[in-house]
Amino acid sequence: MKRFVTTTLAGALIAGFAWAAAPAADAHASADVKWYGQAAFRIKTPGGKVIVIDPFITKNPKTPADDKDLAKLGKVDLILVTHGHGDHIGDTAALAKMTGAKVGVNADMGHTMRILGMVPKEQLVRFNKSGPINPIGPEITITMTHAEHSSEIVSKKDGVEAIYPGGEPAGYIIKLEDGYTIYHSGDTGVFKDMELIHDLYKPDLALICIGGWFTMDPRHAAYAVNKFLKPKTVMPMHYGTFGLLKGTPDQLKTHLSGMGDTTEIVVMQPGDEKTFGK
Ligand SMILES: [Zn+2]
Repeated sequence: MKRFVTTTLAGALIAGFAWAAAPAADAHASADVKWYGQAAFRIKTPGGKVIVIDPFITKNPKTPADDKDLAKLGKVDLILVTHGHGDHIGDTAALAKMTGAKVGVNADMGHTMRILGMVPKEQLVRFNKSGPINPIGPEITITMTHAEHSSEIVSKKDGVEAIYPGGEPAGYIIKLEDGYTIYHSGDTGVFKDMELIHDLYKPDLALICIGGWFTMDPRHAAYAVNKFLKPKTVMPMHYGTFGLLKGTPDQLKTHLSGMGDTTEIVVMQPGDEKTFGK
């Protein structure tokens, strides 16, 4: 027995030493999430991939000046766009050109982006709600979800504004290499099928809109979190960027605590980067 204990202890020490001596193997064991304000995020995955969502950056009034240089995003593997509005498409065309990243969008908006010359066909990943895909390798799964909103693209043709189809508005489920699962709501009102998002994907982190007017306000968002989504952590977004988006994180906290909900609430400032993980 003593020999067993000794051997086990030695094994544990060796394992501990190996772990301590080789931190590089574990250097990305979590996701780094940077918020640019509104619905714009950069996610660095545990395996070193970079996913950017709704890159409204250069004209985003809340993005810090230091972060407006698109080159500072570095390499980008995938850009996901939730719908066609300008505060979500944002710098997609420029960033796609600069980085060569794939651009995941709903199938109809993909056609519009190609025809308008925003994103070349080779970079587009056109898909639709419910079909999990692996556009940047088998270990990361992207699923498009429903969103209760609208989607059109306003663009200039020959100097004249015109409206183009933006397809269906959406949210995204991003399951990372280590299983950590992030839900980006896009712009949406609360809808009861958010239950499906919990049942099917069990998001660890929910990035949800709280600004109101065009989307959920804090009361709606608290309801969505408490009744349907049930994430481990919630991070409010899409508020304060423009005057109409009046919802605040404090209001979200008040509504959640009023429901006896103890979900962790992480409040970031535009430009902040935070590490999330299991
Ligand atoms: Zn929006």
